[in-house]
Amino acid sequence: MYPTDRPRRLRTDGIRPLVSESSLSASDLVAPVFVDATTDERVSIESMPGHERVPVDEAVARVEEVRDTGVEAVILFGVPEAKDPTGSRAYAADGVVQRAIRRISAETDAYVVGDVCLCEYTDHGHCGVIEEGAAADPTLTVRNDETLELLAETAVSQADAGADMVAPSAMTDGQVAAIRSALDDAGHEDVALMSYAAKYESAFYGPFRDAADGAPAFGDRRHYQMDPANRREALREARLDAEEGADVLMVKPGLPYLDVVSDLRREFDRPIAAYNVSGEYAMLHAAAEKGWLDLEAVAHESLVSLKRAGADLIVTYFAEDLADRL
Ligand SMILES: [Zn+2]
Repeated sequence: MYPTDRPRRLRTDGIRPLVSESSLSASDLVAPVFVDATTDERVSIESMPGHERVPVDEAVARVEEVRDTGVEAVILFGVPEAKDPTGSRAYAADGVVQRAIRRISAETDAYVVGDVCLCEYTDHGHCGVIEEGAAADPTLTVRNDETLELLAETAVSQADAGADMVAPSAMTDGQVAAIRSALDDAGHEDVALMSYAAKYESAFYGPFRDAADGAPAFGDRRHYQMDPANRREALREARLDAEEGADVLMVKPGLPYLDVVSDLRREFDRPIAAYNVSGEYAMLHAAAEKGWLDLEAVAHESLVSLKRAGADLIVTYFAEDLADRL
């Protein structure tokens, strides 16, 4: 008790770093990279300052820029040349992401993660095959079981191209098992799997949808992504994914869901990832632009908070900026 016990003794400059419980380093971070088959030059993403969509020819250069900051891992998202109801460019051997992965894994030492979903590739913008008439009837939604096969094909095509890890993000029941077994059947036993285990139906994804051109043409994703009100359900989702063979369990978004990151850390012995999403990035940038927040300080505090909550790795649009300063 005070006056004997004085926590401030451990806050002097000399000892603060020695007793710090969490730290952040470039090796914790994964940088998202957008490759775009519809452009032959780099295109800035307005709502995500500093980020660009790049053509396949620029993919290697883009990844080298990331690696120059000290960040070793990238996660790839694609904008295809054409979209259709079943998102066939997601699993084409010559799809935009597959071509980029082939080049990146041949020409760089980056650790390459492929995001596995169909929403950037379907003409309706949903994460799988949809039921007939869904455009007019909001009660209709993605067909779960028919989607599994396409997600598995997507993952295998990315592994064939050289991906080190695949990351299914469609929130389709059974996707981890379907993908793990398809990868193993194709001889990709060593390709790791990071599941977006607890992916919420969040309004914080807005700027990403500009970047990847993946907004649903109608309806929303509430029938497959998680309800933001639910915490226990995240443990159920994560348990299923762990049992199905996920090597890493992810929570998305990050900051509004620190309780979920912390729960997963406590309950599971696998690495936990957090996705510091586009909206988290955009709002700090917007406030900094107005002079209301110190961007560097709030970005660092955001990511340290994710580490403190229990994340081992963080997917973040701040990766390069922060790594540069760490
Ligand atoms: Zn999706």
